[in-house]
Amino acid sequence: MTYVIKKRKWQRFTVQSIILLALVLAISVFRQGNFIKDKAAKTKAMAENSIIADEVELTDAEEEIVEREESVKTDIVHVKKRSHTYIEISKSVVSTGSSVYLYDNYMEQEINLTIDRMEKKGFLQNDIIRYNKGSTFIGKADENNKKDPVKSFSIISEKGKNGKYKTDIKIKTKRLYAPELLETDDAYYISLAVPSKIYDKIIVIDAGHGGIDEGTKSFRGHYEKNYNLIILKELKTLLDSSDSGIKAYYTRLTDKTISKAARTKLANSLKADLFISIHCNSSEYGDSAPYGIEVLYSKRKPHNSKLSNKKLAEILLENVAGKVNNKKRGVIRREGLYIMHHSNVPASIVEVGYMSNKSDLKYIVTKNGQKKMAEGIYNGILEALE
Ligand SMILES: [Zn+2]
Repeated sequence: MTYVIKKRKWQRFTVQSIILLALVLAISVFRQGNFIKDKAAKTKAMAENSIIADEVELTDAEEEIVEREESVKTDIVHVKKRSHTYIEISKSVVSTGSSVYLYDNYMEQEINLTIDRMEKKGFLQNDIIRYNKGSTFIGKADENNKKDPVKSFSIISEKGKNGKYKTDIKIKTKRLYAPELLETDDAYYISLAVPSKIYDKIIVIDAGHGGIDEGTKSFRGHYEKNYNLIILKELKTLLDSSDSGIKAYYTRLTDKTISKAARTKLANSLKADLFISIHCNSSEYGDSAPYGIEVLYSKRKPHNSKLSNKKLAEILLENVAGKVNNKKRGVIRREGLYIMHHSNVPASIVEVGYMSNKSDLKYIVTKNGQKKMAEGIYNGILEALE
């Protein structure tokens, strides 16, 4: 009995072993198959990624641009001619050998004045004198007096390694000005002209989303906010190098969070001739899904402009699609989108392509595609301003 049982046990053991062996074999064959499939998929993805990721430079979207202006030598007659509203800082309080720069932080309605290499720390509120149409203001800003162009200001002096002081003066103004730093033999002046009075054409370019608002995301993990900004920067390069006389303002030049209200306020305060917002589209259907260019508009009537929102959208669609050589999906009326619903000036949202579509995405993330999109928008701007 014992033997039989043993024999049976042995038989059972053999059967179990064979089954186990077969199972291990089966798993290993299956896994190898998968491995081969995985490898093929990985190679394919790598090949595709190399096409798509090749020219992506996310640093482009992160790089900070601060355009500081140096002073322009002139005389008091020219200062008064540019605008009756200006700020004066006597050269008697600025050390010889100092450098003075201005940065127009227009999104904050703030003017930043930097004075490098000062011999002493002392810079007083009384050193910043405001003139406005015959009235003079010295010292603390007068919040209640409409004639004082300044809302508030702060002065910060820091000693640098060279033993000299760097002074940062931040001036918040009551309205949006086009500040210019001027210099006479006796003083520095910040001329405060109203933008629409000194610029023939003003445009506001907006890179959609930014900061914590990422916008849409491609199936490969590209964030829309970065590509809106890169295309905006390509457009800026074109505008900077053209002699079109267009003054362009940008809602952001870095990856930062900005409210839709602040973007729209900029266009409205400037009484801009155009307000264009750059976006990338997306669809949930993936690669077989929609592709091409759309421009969104609202039926809202812009104030003081012959150009309707729809006409602007049509011009932009023709020009962008023409340059990029992609499908024109059309101009699409969309009410209820904040910036278009609150804009008093002609406004459009350009959807340059679908991040959810492989071939559109390739355009969006490569330098050549970004350049073409910017050129299309640029040509559209010129045509719309004609
Ligand atoms: Zn968007």
